[in-house]
Amino acid sequence: MKTGTILLLFFYFLLLMMAGIACRAPQKTKMATVIEQLMEGNHRFASMHQSHPHDTKQRRVEISEAQHPFAAIICCSDSRVPPELVFDQGLGDLFVVRTAGNLMSGLEIGSIEYAVEHLGVKEVIIMGHKECGALKAFAEGGTVSGHIKDIVDSIKSEQEIRQLPANDKNLLNDCIRANVLHGIHQLKLQSTLLASRINNNELQVLGACYDMRSGVVELIQE
Ligand SMILES: [Zn+2]
Repeated sequence: MKTGTILLLFFYFLLLMMAGIACRAPQKTKMATVIEQLMEGNHRFASMHQSHPHDTKQRRVEISEAQHPFAAIICCSDSRVPPELVFDQGLGDLFVVRTAGNLMSGLEIGSIEYAVEHLGVKEVIIMGHKECGALKAFAEGGTVSGHIKDIVDSIKSEQEIRQLPANDKNLLNDCIRANVLHGIHQLKLQSTLLASRINNNELQVLGACYDMRSGVVELIQE
């Protein structure tokens, strides 16, 4: 092959790559903006400088026809971790799924699929929290009854939890982290719709942990 042809092919390949990057860039920027918006809100909350956005009668009327939340949050039902307050957001801003220990089954994953497919959500955060009672019930052992046992059994069955060392000195915090990672893996493995959006860079799923004392949310890296 002649040098000229090789150079031409190289430039053609370069152009294709640049076009690909250009197409993906706006999505990435939008996702980064969503995270920034949430983290800025959390900073306002943690420093007690909340702006309480979208908390007016006018907003209530505006969104009565349709909702356009900018992020979906899966978090614990614990009364001390309401995401709208923790991220200083208002009416119609967040699509929220809450269960004890932020555990998910088909119903919860279906809710997230709805938020992504029908409401256009591009950012999903699975947020655990320090001192989580559900994870504590598992980590400390003991007897639980009724359907509370279902919660503990579900945590016990998580691969990410089972991989923790038996003599873990930081068991509760490690369980909280492993449980969030499990949630991320679950969304990717159990939902074809979400997995496809993630692979196409149209959706980002992140983990986070909320500290009730400081009020700070920290992102969890895999
Ligand atoms: Zn909890």
